[in-house]
Amino acid sequence: MGRLRILREFTAVRWFRPLRTRRAVERRQRRLLAAHLRFLRRRSPYFRDQLRSRSFVELPFMDKSLMMERFDEISTVGIAKEDALALALANERAREFDADLGSHSVGLSSGTSGHRGLFVVSAAERDAWVGTVLARTLPRGALLGHRIALFLRADNTLYESVGSRVVSFRYFDVFADMADNLARLRDYRPTILVAPPSVLRLIARAVDAGELELRPRKVYSVAEVLELADEQRIVRSLKQDRLHQLYQCTEGFLAHTCEQGVIHLNEDNILVEREMLDDVRFTPIVTDLRRRAQPIVRYRLGDVLRECSDPCPCGSALTAIERIEGREGDTLVLRGQDGRSIPVFADVITRALLYAEGFDEYRIRQIGDAQLEIALDRLDDGSVGSVRSEVHALLDRLGCERPEISFVEYVNDGSAKLRRVVQEWGERRW
Ligand SMILES: [Zn+2]
Repeated sequence: MGRLRILREFTAVRWFRPLRTRRAVERRQRRLLAAHLRFLRRRSPYFRDQLRSRSFVELPFMDKSLMMERFDEISTVGIAKEDALALALANERAREFDADLGSHSVGLSSGTSGHRGLFVVSAAERDAWVGTVLARTLPRGALLGHRIALFLRADNTLYESVGSRVVSFRYFDVFADMADNLARLRDYRPTILVAPPSVLRLIARAVDAGELELRPRKVYSVAEVLELADEQRIVRSLKQDRLHQLYQCTEGFLAHTCEQGVIHLNEDNILVEREMLDDVRFTPIVTDLRRRAQPIVRYRLGDVLRECSDPCPCGSALTAIERIEGREGDTLVLRGQDGRSIPVFADVITRALLYAEGFDEYRIRQIGDAQLEIALDRLDDGSVGSVRSEVHALLDRLGCERPEISFVEYVNDGSAKLRRVVQEWGERRW
């Protein structure tokens, strides 16, 4: 069943959904939205109630805290937050992601609004996701024989379901020892490499140092915002014409780069409203028109997008984006117990804080060789102790010396662009 659904989505995205005009895009969106709202009225208690007195454009914006507060009523599959959370935490702790809730996958997300989010994805949605990723990443006219290496924050079975005789897929855990990952990568010789920019940077460095020989046909940056300097370095070291991007977060698969290397919104499946910040930059308000188990409707994302002024030469009518300015964070560099410098990715440390309790907002700054400053919006003994022990557990696991940690009051500076993890000390030395 799964493979059929993957194939159906793959062919639809690849060949049957060209959407060459804005009118065609909007017609499809209207049709999907009408069907989606009918479904939500039937199946989601929260939306049934909201839609009684409001039209779609009057629905309140969603964010992570609303999602967590009203989780049980928003869900259309009757999954309770407590059950999903318990399972997701257990999975995350064990670093195994094969336990599911019925036919649904659950997972935790870190992020910028509130510190812990929870997502639920049905088997059908998972298959559609895989089909779309394959359709977007496999090169035109050359489908067979590809080996796809996918480095991701371990999330759940969502990321493990690709794999067949025609296309092979291997999953690499960003949390695992990087030397092991590089060794596995050497054996696997991927033709397509998909990884967060912080990991691509490490791979580029290993290639430059002659520790790894790798010549993928396509390289995708995923999950974190890509800095220009990193992009140039990665392109050069991995001998690419360009670096591609999949703009993916818990709230969905939002954008991809076309053959021209331009980022396009996935408007065949999502509706993007805009909260304008100036003439060209906007915060996206996203409605996933097909995601049903856990509806994402008028969900306000933290990232900042900048639209292209000219239409893309590829001819797609999907909105072209100049840049995604994110809110992720820097990589900390800590001293290893053996004296080496050890990179601690923003992503890894924000995920470690998923286990900590008692606060909502935080920011971590590296202010010295072995000094961290952590700002929390609630500074009681419980939250401080909980954060300290999770940070220690993570750093012990990574083989880092424990740094000195000072705790301060979290102050919201109101900036649109917020980095949770900030490296303010010295150069990147790894
Ligand atoms: Zn294009």
